[in-house]
Amino acid sequence: MKLIADLHTHTTASTHAFSTLRELVWQAQTLGMCAMAVTDHAPALPDSPHPHYFKNITSLPDILDDGFLLLKGAEVNVMDAGGALDLPERRLEKLDWVIASLHHRCIEPMDVDTTTSLWLAIAENPLVDMIGHSETQEYLYDYDRATKAFAAHNKVVELNAGSAFSRPGNEGNLRRLAQSCKQNGAYVAVNTDAHSLYSLGHTEAVLKMLAAIDFPEELVVNSSKERLRETLRRHKKPIAQRIEGLW
Ligand SMILES: [Zn+2]
Ligand SMILES: [Zn+2]
Repeated sequence: MKLIADLHTHTTASTHAFSTLRELVWQAQTLGMCAMAVTDHAPALPDSPHPHYFKNITSLPDILDDGFLLLKGAEVNVMDAGGALDLPERRLEKLDWVIASLHHRCIEPMDVDTTTSLWLAIAENPLVDMIGHSETQEYLYDYDRATKAFAAHNKVVELNAGSAFSRPGNEGNLRRLAQSCKQNGAYVAVNTDAHSLYSLGHTEAVLKMLAAIDFPEELVVNSSKERLRETLRRHKKPIAQRIEGLW
């Protein structure tokens, strides 16, 4: 399986990241990819860009040189067990790719039942496209129940290759999460969560794990152009219309 896009990346707009947008795109192109989502941290996380950034980002082109697709997105923070997010709806509905993630600075670890209901609430939020790095032990949840809901609402479950570095020790959870996605027919994406151009492309360990559990390629939304296009259509993203016939 070859990945044609990375759907979770950070630029220097998040001040703990190290590459510009152009540098990330250049590296993604060098690696043979044809799309990328830029998903800097939403405002509740320290080191995130100013809220205006998420308005201005929509002025960037959809398609860059050589037909490269740029999805303008955000990694938003889930702020409470009810699934509240830290960007207003009017911003989220203009973005091409919205990741909902749990970060320490924004939400305390909870018990399994509470974390499960949080993800069930997020599953029903039409403005969320992808569930970010949800495999960590401190935010453990009922993978079977939640991935059924993710599948029912077409959410994409991220299998985060960068977690091995930034949140180590959760490889077993990641594998169990992937197995639940397979069993319940939930879509996944394999991403790096790159905070510099040097992280892009390092997805070998996750791809190896997927091969070991015989994970169906058709559920991996960033494994072909057609699958990514279909995902944008399924999520009713305006960009799906804008790039019709162009990408
Ligand atoms: Zn994150
Ligand atoms: Zn991230």
